[in-house]
Amino acid sequence: MPELPEVQTVVNTLMPHLVGRTIKRVVHLRGDIVEPAGFDLVTHLHGRRVESIHRRAKRIVISLDDLNQLYIHLGMTGRLTIEPPDRAREIHTHLVLDIGERELRFRDPRRFGGIFWLGREACDADLGPEPLTLRARQLTECLSATTRAIKNALLDQTVIAGLGNIYVDESLFAARIHPLTPADKLTSDQIARLNQSIKSVLRRALKHRGSTLRDYVDAEGGKGAFQRLHKVYDREGDPCSACRRPITRIVLGGRSTCFCVKCQPLKRARRRS
Ligand SMILES: [Zn+2]
Repeated sequence: MPELPEVQTVVNTLMPHLVGRTIKRVVHLRGDIVEPAGFDLVTHLHGRRVESIHRRAKRIVISLDDLNQLYIHLGMTGRLTIEPPDRAREIHTHLVLDIGERELRFRDPRRFGGIFWLGREACDADLGPEPLTLRARQLTECLSATTRAIKNALLDQTVIAGLGNIYVDESLFAARIHPLTPADKLTSDQIARLNQSIKSVLRRALKHRGSTLRDYVDAEGGKGAFQRLHKVYDREGDPCSACRRPITRIVLGGRSTCFCVKCQPLKRARRRS
């Protein structure tokens, strides 16, 4: 699933093609990928100019010249690509915007993603803070409110917004924190380490244009390269890069979780004072 680095890379590659362009034609092929249900995208998008595009969490937020906004979520298999109009449309293409010389196409075979009309509403009323600008003090506040395993807390978009399975596993490994550690039991050292690790993992992933495991490509069809640098994610049984012990995989909250039992020991919870 595309997470912060992949979504940011899509936004970066969309920007030069989309910003300042007028939407000349809208082909909306599948109704049930829009929220609110039944929303008339064609009427609301036709003739509008794209003012700006930015990422918030895993959302691609598009602002229009009439001050309305919408966002696109790529879900598991979503792709938002710029294509020449004469290129055959792939199956599962749900929306096409003619922006003159090029088309913006949204394709999502599994349909966990979608298009969300915001109008003049904020794009992030239901989201936690962004991890790249998060301070350790804020992270402490975010995590002290939950007794859940740190892995699950970090996946919760209302706690911190933008992380998913890949970058949570990689950040916990870098911070040497066991994924089952209760979020409210992390020491201040662990939180400081975690905050640093999240940032450094995300920055490296951004530099490598994200991770392509199966479907992910940027708006110009380019794949990410960070998957080659994953230390634990999807590496069950491989030797740990630090201690050579095989990477362990467990299922936590229905999600696959990979970590090193030696480098990420589960410390006995400290009593609350
Ligand atoms: Zn290890």
